[in-house]
Amino acid sequence: MARLTYFGLFALQHRGQESAGISVSDGRAILVFKELGLVSQVFNEATLATLQGELGIGHTRYSTTGSNTWDNAQPAFKTDGRRGLALGHNGNLVNTAELAERAGWRGGATTDSDLVATLLAEHLGEGLEVAAMRVLPTLEGAFSFVMMDERTVFAARDPHGLRPLSIGKLPGGFCFASETAALDIVGATFVRDVEPGELVMVDDEGLRSRRFAESPRRALCLFEFVYLARADSRLYGRTVLSARREMGRRLALQAPADADLVIPIPDTGHAAAQGYAEEAGLPYGEGLMKNRYVGRTFIEPTPSLRSRGVKLKLNPMPEAVRGRRLVVVDDSIVRGTTTRQIVQTLREAGAAAVHLRVTSPPVRWPCFYGIDMSTRKELVATDLTVDEVREFIGADSLGYLELEALVEATGSPADSFCRACFDGKYPVPVPEREPTKFALEEEPAGRPSPP
Ligand code: SF4
Repeated sequence: MARLTYFGLFALQHRGQESAGISVSDGRAILVFKELGLVSQVFNEATLATLQGELGIGHTRYSTTGSNTWDNAQPAFKTDGRRGLALGHNGNLVNTAELAERAGWRGGATTDSDLVATLLAEHLGEGLEVAAMRVLPTLEGAFSFVMMDERTVFAARDPHGLRPLSIGKLPGGFCFASETAALDIVGATFVRDVEPGELVMVDDEGLRSRRFAESPRRALCLFEFVYLARADSRLYGRTVLSARREMGRRLALQAPADADLVIPIPDTGHAAAQGYAEEAGLPYGEGLMKNRYVGRTFIEPTPSLRSRGVKLKLNPMPEAVRGRRLVVVDDSIVRGTTTRQIVQTLREAGAAAVHLRVTSPPVRWPCFYGIDMSTRKELVATDLTVDEVREFIGADSLGYLELEALVEATGSPADSFCRACFDGKYPVPVPEREPTKFALEEEPAGRPSPP
């Protein structure tokens, strides 16, 4: 089981690169191994061999609440002295501070996830199923959970289904994963998504389901299609790859450019750049070589790490770009600092012009549901016009895909998505005192703030 979970985590490494962990159970006790680092750094043959059991859950972390520390790595483990539970969380709650205050919580960890595990443990005497039915309805915000006790694996999704979570069928059982690509990789067949507001349980008897809340409406994060999910995953029944290609086509119609070559910013920009090139009748090529062993820049925890990551990660190919007027296709501009560096390196490599085309609208509002952009001041488009953003990043022209066209490219209706970072309409109300990443810890003096 540990090995299968390990392969699943490997497939989901792009979703979190700060820490990784696996917990297993042999039916009597839960064993957890977690550490800071990538999946391949955290686990080896010896550690996997110690994780014996028929049930397991795993997690890769990308911090949106709490610092990057061992305590905050997941699965979170709690026990009431007799029984135990382990929990992995994808998403971000918006009522963390209120829940912590109500529970008088003082944990070693500083994440909303650890807080939820603590709240569940208070009811463990009645079993994890009862605990989940009591605690899940009190949570507000985004959560896709995998949980386990000694004998059962649980999966639950918030009533809006903000983060994805799918069910797969294995020859001898079932599994859950944030993306369908992970199901493919462990040899599971896609069964269905966990429904918003649903608690699903798998044990010796098979799969059972209960509803812990009604779903007011679906609101899958639109950014999953734009940036976060793997191109070979399927969301709402559509491959992310085909949606991104369609975004590129629509972008070419909305924001044409007088250019010689269309290049992607790897990797998310590939499909969209191909779509743009096809629609515009321009050649498509590679102009930036990606070092595949460097993690995603946007989801690294501090600005200085992000900036170092960009330089290590993307190297322009002068023969491909020199003297050429480029259309450069990217998925989004959040802080703008990464984009600015890329534009600069392309110019240094001899590009005659850089026309930046972005397959999403300007990100003007923060995300409180699990993407690390939770304050207005870190978003370049909040106070700047499109032309001011263009000037900031140093491009010759800048074109964004309009929200309506982006949604159409996904093939699903607008009201099935959260689009809040683009239009400011939050499906789950955000408290007046906006949640911050460090809600459960003292903001240390000198913590770097995003540029
Ligand atoms: S605010 Fe944006 S990034 Fe956050 S969940 Fe909504 S669409 Fe996704």
